[in-house]
Amino acid sequence: MLDTRKLFLEAAGTASVGIAPPSPPTQALFILYDQLNLTVFPPDLLAQKPLLIFVESFGYATAIPHHQKKLVYILSAQRHFAIACNQAGFDVLPLFTIGSHSKAIAEFLIQNPEVTLTYMLPSEWDTRSEMALVQEQFSAQVKVIPNNFLIADIAKFTPKIKKGYRLETFYRDLRQSTGYLMDGKKPVGGSWNYDKENRKKLPAKVPIPKVSKYEPDQITQEVINLVENYFPNNFGLIANFNYAVTREQALTLATEFIQERLPNFGAYEDAIKVGEPFLFHSVLSIYLNNGLLLPRELCEMAIAAYTKGEAPLNSVEGFVRQILGWREFIHIYYEAMMPEARNFNHFNFSYNLPQLYWDADTELLCLKDAVSSVINHSYSHHIQRLMVLSNFSNLTFTNPQALNHWFYLAYIDAYEWVELPNVLGMSTFADGGILASKPYVSGGNYINKMSNCCAQCKYDVKVKTGDRACPFNYLFWHFVDTHRQDFMENGRVSLMANMYDAKPEVEKAEIYSSSQIFIHNLKRAST
Ligand code: SF4
Repeated sequence: MLDTRKLFLEAAGTASVGIAPPSPPTQALFILYDQLNLTVFPPDLLAQKPLLIFVESFGYATAIPHHQKKLVYILSAQRHFAIACNQAGFDVLPLFTIGSHSKAIAEFLIQNPEVTLTYMLPSEWDTRSEMALVQEQFSAQVKVIPNNFLIADIAKFTPKIKKGYRLETFYRDLRQSTGYLMDGKKPVGGSWNYDKENRKKLPAKVPIPKVSKYEPDQITQEVINLVENYFPNNFGLIANFNYAVTREQALTLATEFIQERLPNFGAYEDAIKVGEPFLFHSVLSIYLNNGLLLPRELCEMAIAAYTKGEAPLNSVEGFVRQILGWREFIHIYYEAMMPEARNFNHFNFSYNLPQLYWDADTELLCLKDAVSSVINHSYSHHIQRLMVLSNFSNLTFTNPQALNHWFYLAYIDAYEWVELPNVLGMSTFADGGILASKPYVSGGNYINKMSNCCAQCKYDVKVKTGDRACPFNYLFWHFVDTHRQDFMENGRVSLMANMYDAKPEVEKAEIYSSSQIFIHNLKRAST
């Protein structure tokens, strides 16, 4: 057998990680970068103590230029998990390849024809397609098992995804089938959601608990060195990497969130504060999306806090809805809509991404703050993603696939199945309304209502057109005018088109000219 382990250890500089040499295997289990939790794998398979294979794929890392912190996280979490498995009694084989994950597995199978290999269905389309080819080529040797990292039954819900099937129906179904926050057949508290209580602006004096940080240990530091060496020009800053990289650390952060931030999570879920990237958000999607944490356990931790009177229902229901509702819903959407979803562009926007998404070089403070957060942390919270970054992209007629590409590479919690539906379905309306019931666009008023950005911005959110005006203001009405058909046909937003029509002609002309000047002067990235 080729000693690819030695190759990997030398190439990746991990000779110090202490993984024991594997004994000759007959059973192997390939565990992907976002499947880092043995409790999800079949117990009878694990009882056979298969050789656990982990692949570090240069091809995956270079297919798109992921944020440097994202690469550090993916690799470090996988290495820590591999070592934990080894310490738990499993032989572990780390493979390093300049190709894809599937290429490394195919080579392993050729070199080890006596081995039967099992893998769990990959969540990302390309990895799944590539592994399907391996399975076809080595059908006698390879077995695929269903992906158990999510809750909802794919076969039951995938056929339901079409225009008009909304989150609310799906969410109620899952609340009933899981029994989460249910009182018999009725929702606890009498309502299915408490969003009306969850749209508060953050008062200036509310203290914001800090999210605990983990300094890089030796393994993470080695990965940081590797990323600095091999991916020095990738997006984002690698300095001050301090995310959790093990399940134990992630569980500590989950407990910290439940105790310290969940009580205020609901009320300030949609708030923005300059320089505060995390606010009361859980920041647990990072760990949920690669398997270190599991959706059921997080829902149950939050529900236990409600039951003990430690967190209010509006917060707990809002958090459960994010995981049990939205996260599961978009997973089903991805399963139903791929691969066609990658080409969605309902408005036929063709402009490249504004350059400011890469360098935060802008005087629009809400955008500068959101992009700076992404550059520094590979993260921004959901309302910045939706109502600042995606909103601006829409209002400037940016190709949604360019925005989708940026979100995918820039965010530490972005895997295609969870990122693409959020961007091409929800926030850009690129699917024409299959996922979302309306285009999510707004003027500066919304951002002003939910944030402290506008008070510190060069632009005046109260001014509608001209040089001093907040660009979101005129760009919003320009968008409504340009896409009036979509607004007129949609009961939820048809009022906007009527409001535009009622404006004086002189104001309409100013909206048009301010927007034309802004959009045409906006610096765009070259690709
Ligand atoms: Fe953003 Fe406009 Fe507010 Fe400035 S004034 S922070 S550009 S919404």
